[in-house]
Amino acid sequence: MNEYDSDYLGQVLVSSNYLPTDNPKQADVILINTCTVRAKAAQKALSLLGRMVPLKKRNPELILGITGCLAQQEGSSLMQRFPDLDLVLGTREKERFESFLKRISTSREKIVAIDMDGPLVSPLPNNGYFKGRVKSFISVMEGCNNFCSYCIVPYVRGREVSRPPKEILEEIRHLVSQGTREITLLGQNVNSYKWDKTYGFSSLLKEVNKIEDLARIRFTTSHPKDLSDDLINIFAELDNLCPHIHLPFQSGSNKILRLMNRRYSRERYIDLIGRLRQVRPEIAITSDVMVGFPKESDEDFQMTLDLIKKIEFDNLYSFKYSDRKGTSAEKMEGKVDDSKKSSRLETLQRLQKDITLGKNRMLEGTRMEVLVEGYGKRNGQLTGRTASNKVVNFSCNNNVIGNLIDVKIQHAAVNSLQGILTNMNH
Ligand code: SAH
Ligand code: SF4
Repeated sequence: MNEYDSDYLGQVLVSSNYLPTDNPKQADVILINTCTVRAKAAQKALSLLGRMVPLKKRNPELILGITGCLAQQEGSSLMQRFPDLDLVLGTREKERFESFLKRISTSREKIVAIDMDGPLVSPLPNNGYFKGRVKSFISVMEGCNNFCSYCIVPYVRGREVSRPPKEILEEIRHLVSQGTREITLLGQNVNSYKWDKTYGFSSLLKEVNKIEDLARIRFTTSHPKDLSDDLINIFAELDNLCPHIHLPFQSGSNKILRLMNRRYSRERYIDLIGRLRQVRPEIAITSDVMVGFPKESDEDFQMTLDLIKKIEFDNLYSFKYSDRKGTSAEKMEGKVDDSKKSSRLETLQRLQKDITLGKNRMLEGTRMEVLVEGYGKRNGQLTGRTASNKVVNFSCNNNVIGNLIDVKIQHAAVNSLQGILTNMNH
């Protein structure tokens, strides 16, 4: 979502005649887009901001700004802490970015804008910004109404708002005309996308599936409590919908799930995965999980490990729980100390690593269709992903970026597969 937002703000800068640079020392505008979902993300953003301050001292004309969820959360206190900041731009203030830039560059005003009533932004007219991008993201909704007890998102992104289908479809068609072959529909809880009584997320997916020259569709993130039969069945129905779902489970203990206010049980989660696998046997399952939520006992943690073994996820994003200001979990008793969180995380990650590697090894010797995204890290190599979202690196002398090709998998590692080209498809 932040990538999508950064692109919107990047487009505004390009339309205002700024050019991108990789070197912050050359920049006339630096805007840091931030995340505050976990303490570590917030600390990283603040330390980056701290490193940019000396540039402002050297070049007083530089416009230094901060945006995203941390900006929304902290507002004017950021301006007090970093007096060199010119702009604090909230998550629903993106539409006014251009006018703020003008005001700052003409009168050196300092601006804090964090109203939550602003509109969701619509894409800007074509200025070539997206040319040649094989894989794109698009926000279809923003905000969240769920209030999981640990989560800051509802406070910094506001309540759920869905974008009009017509606008979403037009934006995707535009991206496809610029070279996009794969689109990921984004929302904190995409299952709740709703335009009117009869037009929900499945209706949107069906329309996106009809867009010509778009080869792959993905979406993220789904919430287990809202994953309907309708949406499960759609995995068998739509030919362009990739066989992959990211379905965060957070904990394998019903006691912890209740404290998290997730509103599903481990039994329901296992049942959902069973149904998904029934409808689309090759479906890849990835998930998010947390360790060290308040009151998480050794038994609760064992239940999480047990669920991981039962499901055998293709991949897991795992985190240590961290307090977020103003959430209800922040005020809970029974906090788990950091060393215990670290050792649980290590145990969990070791287990998942073996599962991921085992699953990847089963692909050795098979042929997989890969959408080529760009150059790999090694010389002469290209990189892409399978429909199940696994990274594949392979050697190729032709420029096949943007093509779907067949690759025979020769070697599997935890984070990627190595293969050889067998067939150029289309
Ligand atoms: N909307 C998505 C998740 C958004 S946040 C969902 O409902 O699943 C992405 C992930 O960050 C979450 O799935 C969770 O695992 C993690 N996360 C959120 N708040 C956290 C916190 N306070 N501490 C640690 N991890 C957190
Ligand atoms: Fe946060 Fe996701 Fe829960 Fe919403 S559904 S409160 S974004 S974890």
